[in-house]
Amino acid sequence: RLVSLEGGDGAGKTTQRDLLGAWLTDLGHEVVLTREPGGTALGQVLRDAVLHGEDVDPRTEALLYATDRAHHVHSLVRPALARGAVVVTDRYLDSSVAYQGAARSLGDEEIRDLSLWATRGLLPDLTVLLDLDPAIAAARRTGAPDRLERESLDFHARVREHFLALAAAEPDRFLVLDAAAAPQEIHAAVRARLAPLLPA
Ligand code: C5P
Ligand code: MG
Repeated sequence: RLVSLEGGDGAGKTTQRDLLGAWLTDLGHEVVLTREPGGTALGQVLRDAVLHGEDVDPRTEALLYATDRAHHVHSLVRPALARGAVVVTDRYLDSSVAYQGAARSLGDEEIRDLSLWATRGLLPDLTVLLDLDPAIAAARRTGAPDRLERESLDFHARVREHFLALAAAEPDRFLVLDAAAAPQEIHAAVRARLAPLLPA
């Protein structure tokens, strides 16, 4: 099973991923916790380039994320799924569609198709969207902002609206939760939705 966590920066995706990991491990599943960009050694290089390297145009950025995803899926995600593991990833293709497709105006369909080509069509069984007002998210963040985090509130508002539209279009795949709720409350809602999807 493949589970992705999506949402803006500061929505609590990593916290939920780690809570999910502990719960799934307790249930006796093999769990692989990962992230995009940066789930592999090559991915870490790409992540560093895209977040801290020179400014690049939106198409180059989209291709760097797609490269990270292709390698991540081929070398880590698919082998884990083949073993029967539950893979939980902090961001997946919906991030590309929302950030590069919508907020950077490259086009939804194009970016989705690019990701599906890169991954040979691998879609998550469940995508949890942690929805949060970008102003609240900005206030939550600590440490030095990376290049993307310095984008305007308007940019992050476009990302948020687009994530919500993606979720509305695929209600069977998405679970949308209010990221302003307490982490344990959010975790309980994720567990309830995921439980019936787990292997016996
Ligand atoms: O969530 P994480 O900190 O890993 O994301 C790293 C940065 O990359 C964030 O600022 C996020 O907004 C950005 N990003 C992006 N497009 C993607 C994935 C992440 O702009 N497809
Ligand atoms: Mg971040």
